[in-house]
Amino acid sequence: MTAQPKFITDASLTGLAKWLRLLGYDTVVYSGKAGRPMMRQAQEQNRIVLTRRRDMLERQFSGDIFLLPAAGAGPQLGFVIRKLSLKIDYNNMYRICMICNSRLSPATRGEVHDQVPLFVYENYDRYNRCDRCGKIYWPGTHVRNALQFLKDNDINVAVQDQMP
Ligand SMILES: [Zn+2]
Repeated sequence: MTAQPKFITDASLTGLAKWLRLLGYDTVVYSGKAGRPMMRQAQEQNRIVLTRRRDMLERQFSGDIFLLPAAGAGPQLGFVIRKLSLKIDYNNMYRICMICNSRLSPATRGEVHDQVPLFVYENYDRYNRCDRCGKIYWPGTHVRNALQFLKDNDINVAVQDQMP
């Protein structure tokens, strides 16, 4: 697998950041005011800068920076994917926690039994759990909703044999 791009967004792009994580892209939300320290972090960690602040473009920066349109997370996500010609693969989705940007690890049903609703426990064998915050993910309606959201925004997903 080729190296996936990594991103850093300003604090106004939290919705977009969650979607990038869902698709498998390591994305940090910079919580301070967008400016010099944010760009330094981008440089140090080799991240592409996504911002809503036009004045960021005027700063000296050797990496990639994109000015995002004022739109919802869906159109913004489409914008990034088209700009970078990203190929979205279902197998890369749900590898990174949407909440804290940490890696997810597979978990068995037994390991999560007291942490998920009973109907989920009864219906699903395979889970992913965040190594840091402990959030648990499973295939189900939210995955179908995510795929529909991507479709509604003209974002193509290569789906192989793991349909939820
Ligand atoms: Zn997490």
